[in-house]
Amino acid sequence: MSVEKSVKDFLEKRENYSNSDFYSELEDKNSELGFMREIVEGDENSGTLQNIPFVVKDAICTENVTSSAGSKMIADYKPVFDATVVKRLKDAGAQFYGKTNMDEFGFGTFSTNCAFETPKNPHDHERVVGGSSGGAGAVVAAVDYPLISIGESTGGSITNPAAYNGVVGITPTYGRVSRHGLIDYANSLDKIGVLAKTVYGTAKGLEIIAGKDENDHTSSSKSVPRYSELEDTDDLNIGIPKQMLELDGLQEGVKENFEKSIELLEEKGANVEYFDEPLFSAEVVLPAYYILAMAEASTNLAKFSGMRYGYEKDPEDFSDFNEYFSEVRSEGFGAEAKRRILLGTYIRKAGYRDKYYVKAAKVRTKLINSFKESFKKYDVLMCPSMPNIAPKIEEAEALRPEEMYAMDSLTVGPNLAGIPQLSVPNGKSKGMPTGLQILGPHFGEKVLFNTGYSFEKLKAEQW
Ligand code: GLN
Repeated sequence: MSVEKSVKDFLEKRENYSNSDFYSELEDKNSELGFMREIVEGDENSGTLQNIPFVVKDAICTENVTSSAGSKMIADYKPVFDATVVKRLKDAGAQFYGKTNMDEFGFGTFSTNCAFETPKNPHDHERVVGGSSGGAGAVVAAVDYPLISIGESTGGSITNPAAYNGVVGITPTYGRVSRHGLIDYANSLDKIGVLAKTVYGTAKGLEIIAGKDENDHTSSSKSVPRYSELEDTDDLNIGIPKQMLELDGLQEGVKENFEKSIELLEEKGANVEYFDEPLFSAEVVLPAYYILAMAEASTNLAKFSGMRYGYEKDPEDFSDFNEYFSEVRSEGFGAEAKRRILLGTYIRKAGYRDKYYVKAAKVRTKLINSFKESFKKYDVLMCPSMPNIAPKIEEAEALRPEEMYAMDSLTVGPNLAGIPQLSVPNGKSKGMPTGLQILGPHFGEKVLFNTGYSFEKLKAEQW
């Protein structure tokens, strides 16, 4: 489908769009693939996004609709309010159709750590959908109608499912979108973003949800540009960090697709330069990310004790509270959540803090500065979105934790730095989609959308 056609479709389809058609398509596809946690019937709304359907990652609160963050611990939690992003979409006229499956609390790379169902990849049902916003990526690829899918990324959870499912995903700058109503994973890293079939869809979605929110003091008051007024760009300065290409585990097919696209961009007039930045290598970014993310996650999970909300048992059956808490937490959390609680608590312990947490925080500051430096020279940076195509579900489940973490080496660095990332489909390898990841300076979403849009057109011309 050409870009112009998809933009037109997005705007025109809503005119002769029937609620029930979309609803039954969603139900059909979901019964096969399992990407939804709950489907609800969209209300009619009026506004600029009238009749555009949207779905929301299950870690984001939706009024009276289950918001379980993929966890048994809060399996029946029905919030009394809508997260700011949900409210903004509804106010703009979009129709809410339910919640998408995910890794428990966002802990994962394949959505195989979900307490409820492991979604299947629409391109090959034996393969994973990516994570942690896996359901959010799969639904976009599976359903024919253009929709806005709200995801959340802590260390790559939007880029990853976008790449594995062959859709577009925008992870905005930290603070660009309000986190009010998000069930936190790691507060200093979490970012809510959008997945859609086209760059236009993600730009339209971000335009609606971005901007200052009185309920989140980390949200930025910078004005929100008209992202969806897309413009062609062809004379960009593109930087490619060599460390993000010379990566253990980078599959040949993924590398080939990346290099072919870079050549294409060069032919079109871009100026491309490969450069060295040892700080961007997997050996640096992975430990820094996992130390900080686990430390923050372990504090966030402390509140799930069976006292105020969530999974609970009868306290009368226990001799003391320690026994009660530990039983509730042993039963309510999955294996990966427990691993992160243990490691995160260890990292924060007196005596280890300086050795791990403080050191990782220093690496993070250096990384931020280094990204800033590189954007003095380049408009955007590019690398593959993920080092591989979506693995088979059974292969993913057999990986050791550190092997799973290693898959995140191209996405955790940008997340640590809080910079925006756009993942666009970049052809296939062995029948599965691969992605191109475009990185921009803080609040540089506009240049990412324009770059992604030009790239989409370039690829469409080739097909
Ligand atoms: N795979 C990474 C992790 O498990 C990133 C997940 C995310 O962004 N939520 O932490």
